[in-house]
Amino acid sequence: MVAVPDATDAGEAITDRMASHGHEQVVFVADAASDLRAVIAIHSTALGPALGGIRFWRYPSEAHAVADVLRLSEAMTLKAAAAGLHQGGGKAVVLVDDPDLPRSVELLHALGRAVHELGGRYLAAEDVGATTRDMDVIDEVTPWVTGVSPERGGSGDPSPVTAVGVVSAMRATLRELDGSPDLDGRVVAVQGTGHVGSRLAALLTDAGARVVVADLNHERACKVANTVGTAVVDHQAILEEECDVLAPCALGPVFTDETVRSLRCRAICGAANNQLADDTIDDILHSKRILYAPDFVANAGGIINIAEEFEGYSRERALARVETIEVVMTRVFELARERGLPPGRAAVALARDRIEREGAGRRWQPGDPTAWTAGAPLRTLRPGVDRADLPETRAPEVSAQ
Ligand code: NAD
Repeated sequence: MVAVPDATDAGEAITDRMASHGHEQVVFVADAASDLRAVIAIHSTALGPALGGIRFWRYPSEAHAVADVLRLSEAMTLKAAAAGLHQGGGKAVVLVDDPDLPRSVELLHALGRAVHELGGRYLAAEDVGATTRDMDVIDEVTPWVTGVSPERGGSGDPSPVTAVGVVSAMRATLRELDGSPDLDGRVVAVQGTGHVGSRLAALLTDAGARVVVADLNHERACKVANTVGTAVVDHQAILEEECDVLAPCALGPVFTDETVRSLRCRAICGAANNQLADDTIDDILHSKRILYAPDFVANAGGIINIAEEFEGYSRERALARVETIEVVMTRVFELARERGLPPGRAAVALARDRIEREGAGRRWQPGDPTAWTAGAPLRTLRPGVDRADLPETRAPEVSAQ
């Protein structure tokens, strides 16, 4: 389930919207032969090439697709900047009738060529609806894509690394609450036992926390509870669980005017994207003295993991890097106290301050060096992988639509 983006500002000129939110470039892509229709948005390259996923989605209209790609690419800029990465933010959306249907090789190649024309200003990754296979096919026509399979030098499933990052964020959250980051004996409620939630539950249990889990798919939650040794409750009850930390690891906005009323947690720290229905919820949580660990800082393990692909992937390096989330989250809470802000707004301020300090006025161009090329021009990603030797990855053929 992905929230349909708001297109209420659809009447406003796109360039006006770009200017008011600081977007550098938006590229509309069409290929009649493969029926490709896509929009690529580069929000910022002030800190380096713009990294962000490709989303395949059925949008009610092109205006909704544009609204979504502008919003998502801006969010990626903040996420990368807060995580201390040398990347900017970008995103691509592909308008499809059914995101669950496999894409043709021709469509993916046409999209890959459009990414290639940007010369590395936009580095593609997986997002909702995309698969590793899609990334592998795109990799046949451009090196500017991440999230490819391990055989092609890719980083594989990011979820275990994301879960480690959430634990790091949770340690900072607990220290802010009580002065100790120790998980031993803490009560944590995990909403959603999918890829990240199930691993998070295991890590927390290993660290001595008392964990309770829930999932829309109750059978899945029970399976995780049995394997990991946690308690399980109905998915409708998890938000009201009395606990030290509530960890949202499901989908969609969780905290609304309605749901925050019945919370019985002391803090919120989880992997889910867009946990707050809107910015005002940040203020409401603050006034209720529930400590909110901003989602885009807590779940940055996924993007940190992908960024490790650039020079040649190492899971050890990715895991070590992800633990720095504890330091970043601690800084967010400090900044919140210093400026009298709720933590969500403090995290945005932290990201913007860094862009201003390190990247003001800069725009990364094809062939420029990057932080990880030690002064040399960026020519490719995963330089150790000889792409000429790789077999073609044939995507499943699409049946007549
Ligand atoms: P997933 O699809 O594997 O798991 C999500 C789980 O949530 C599913 O089991 C689903 O049944 C359950 N769910 C959905 N709605 C629910 C509800 N209302 N109550 C209880 N359970 C519900 O997804 P994932 O890869 O584990 O990602 C979880 C969240 O973390 C997503 O919001 C994702 O965008 C975000 N995230 C994931 C990663 C990653 O590395 N996978 C990285 C960054 C952010």
